[in-house]
Amino acid sequence: MAEPVTVERAVYLMGTRTTLVVEAADRARALERLEALLQTLEQTEAELSTWRDDSVLSELNRRPVGEPLTLSPFLCRLWPRLVETYEQTDGAFDPTIGAWVEAWGVRTGGREPTAAERRMTPARTGLHLVRFDERRCIATRETAVSLDAGAFGKGAALGRLPDAAPGEAWLVDLGGQVAASGPSSRGPWTVALARPDRRSAPALELPLRDGSLATSGASERSWEVDGRWITHILDPRTGTPVVRAGTVTVWHADPLAADMLSTALYVMGADAGLMYATEQDLAAVFLLPAPDGGPVRIRATPAFSRRFEITRVP
Ligand code: FAD
Ligand code: MG
Repeated sequence: MAEPVTVERAVYLMGTRTTLVVEAADRARALERLEALLQTLEQTEAELSTWRDDSVLSELNRRPVGEPLTLSPFLCRLWPRLVETYEQTDGAFDPTIGAWVEAWGVRTGGREPTAAERRMTPARTGLHLVRFDERRCIATRETAVSLDAGAFGKGAALGRLPDAAPGEAWLVDLGGQVAASGPSSRGPWTVALARPDRRSAPALELPLRDGSLATSGASERSWEVDGRWITHILDPRTGTPVVRAGTVTVWHADPLAADMLSTALYVMGADAGLMYATEQDLAAVFLLPAPDGGPVRIRATPAFSRRFEITRVP
């Protein structure tokens, strides 16, 4: 059988670098499939991004409290999954984190919240504060919560790709969350997980056949303000930045689950996160920097060790 043709493209999506690799019988088909994948990612960004005013989520955030908004069919299918993970993780994953993201200046280089924000924001946080009517596909904010897709938007977008390009082998790296449709013609794709203390250096390599690997960590988006570290991952239960060394990576057949759970486990921390992930039989691994800059410590759940032959990069 003739060697398949591989096409690759790097674009900027959801505020981050995204690479797409597609294999197909010929170049024209590979390009057509790549285009279909890209359009699906772009369409999802348009629906979910609260970095843009014209998305459905931004509209919901602007809707007067108590006034219902009809959501897009896609967001309607998504909503019960957000609620399920929010409830299952006791709010460690909470897409109404937007008010705390604002209060801590996560999008503007970090700041201390004002006294008023510290007082008011807890009442503006909690997915249970949005009434959702699945049958009529409408959502109603009961208080001025602010939705933020930062911890589920990438996974939601990647989760739509199998329908966008059925049949071909592809690998998409969306700002650090990787998804594969199946092995390449040469076998599994090799995915490197970065050292938590040096993003440019790989700590280990994993053979990815399918599903998605999502990593959460604060190394890339954290700022020191008046001697205090502020990161882009916040604990919704305390309203404070999660300042931890290390990263956590979750493999899941569903990219949406991988995305939400990696953030939730990062908020929980290695001990509680590993306990939760082991109880749920989740494939998760924490990479923790060694005190002396030596090899990173790898703490994986049994499900992760069953799924992956881990190759440590020296
Ligand atoms: P994750 O751990 O998956 O998510 C962390 C992000 O989720 C945080 O950045 C915050 O937004 C949110 N969050 C923090 N704590 C919690 C929590 N406990 N529960 C739930 N959510 C939490 N970045 C730009 O700079 N410019 C853009 O235009 C831009 N557009 C985007 C559009 C979309 C649709 C999405 C999904 C993301 C976009 N981003 C943009 C990036 C985004 O804001 C985050 O930085 C990115 O999603 C972090 O993803 P992660 O997988 O690295 O971290
Ligand atoms: Mg993520």
